[in-house]
Amino acid sequence: MKLRFLGAARQVTGSCYLLSANGVQLLVDCGMQQGEGAENGGSFPFRPSEISCLFLTHAHIDHSGLIPKLVKDGFNGQIITTGATADLVEIMLYDSAHIQEKDTEWKTKKALRQGKEQVFEPLYTTKDVEAAIPFFVKKRYGETGHLGKGFKYVFVDAGHILGSGSFVLWYQDSPAEKKIVFSGDIGKEGNPIIADPEHMTAADYVVMESTYGNRMHKGMKESIDELVEAIKVTFKRGGNVVMPTFAVGRTQDLLYILNGLVRDGRLPLMDVYVDSPLANEATRVYLSHSEYLEEDAEKLSAVVRGDALRLHFTASVEESQAINRIRSGAVIMAGSGMCEGGRVAHHLKHNLWRSECSIVFTGFQARGTLGRRIVDGASHVHVLGEEIAVKARVYTINGFSAHADQKELLGWLSSFESKPEVFIVHGEENVALDFEKLVQERLGLKTHVPHKGDEFDI
Ligand SMILES: [Zn+2]
Repeated sequence: MKLRFLGAARQVTGSCYLLSANGVQLLVDCGMQQGEGAENGGSFPFRPSEISCLFLTHAHIDHSGLIPKLVKDGFNGQIITTGATADLVEIMLYDSAHIQEKDTEWKTKKALRQGKEQVFEPLYTTKDVEAAIPFFVKKRYGETGHLGKGFKYVFVDAGHILGSGSFVLWYQDSPAEKKIVFSGDIGKEGNPIIADPEHMTAADYVVMESTYGNRMHKGMKESIDELVEAIKVTFKRGGNVVMPTFAVGRTQDLLYILNGLVRDGRLPLMDVYVDSPLANEATRVYLSHSEYLEEDAEKLSAVVRGDALRLHFTASVEESQAINRIRSGAVIMAGSGMCEGGRVAHHLKHNLWRSECSIVFTGFQARGTLGRRIVDGASHVHVLGEEIAVKARVYTINGFSAHADQKELLGWLSSFESKPEVFIVHGEENVALDFEKLVQERLGLKTHVPHKGDEFDI
């Protein structure tokens, strides 16, 4: 079997791995690159029509974002994933296509105004998404699937977001059977809504993420204390709290946490705006898949009904713009989580320059994104074509991350008793290399940090 690394190699985004053996080609993830130098427009380094299956570890766009392009370019196999991922990815891909359509329309108009006859094309349209949906095949965690020619597979719970899985593949390496595990994104233990990542004991090879391979998260309790402090101090100063939030996963976690804080009297009754149609829809998908939720997370439906918070899901642009008139006392959650596009841009424009306001980051900020520039302490940033001063207080609270930290990644890997060979991916280069050193020292495993395009015989 050959394993080729086509993305998320020495970087965080664009997950895509190609497996080929016995005339069968399989793909694991088909993600979009995000941030600086992102390149998604070129043709795939394989023939999409020759891929028989795509296995999708979870719905996040850096793992799924190029699926409609794959189908547009000729793929007609199966896209196999969990039921919740299939439901989540559908709304995410429509959202992604919609953003691209709007974006390219705007760019084309702008070029026309400058007297240039240049037409910008989206990577894919909502029609392309529509065409991709029938290819999805839904599997439950632990349900073994057979592909013939000695291939079988299973998804196990990765505890990252609803439906997220690690993908396990067995293949015949005559005469022996071998096993490769793709970690997918590994969740943090103790997430309030979904289960902890499942640990495995046997594999010959592991392809594993390393997003936080060199960092430790603060504990949940400490992070909640920080959040309480940030909100209280901001409201006292007469400002708003803007939280750039990933629509899928983080929004639902934070709503659950904020609701609990108000219910327990640690925070005052307050208005929370979820200004993201995508987050709204994703929350509905969460609620429709209670079989994936932790028992007490069924209370999520009570949160959404307005158990303790004054919760506002805004849909229309007018409702979204109305939030801009609120001067203080609001918590505004909007995407995108890395501030690249989405409605959060408007809220940054209206609140970032006000010293009484706060921006609270709770997710990973990739290099080259607006979110990263703000976190790194830029004094001015460009938002929606305008230069805006960064006067608001900036908080980075990483204990709510949907990713395992260094200790948890090591813990997950150390549960393999079979001494697998490890390929470290999905981390910035220096982070992946730091993590590699640690894996060698602590676990004594053979490791690689592949470059994009590298191929291995396994
Ligand atoms: Zn993810």
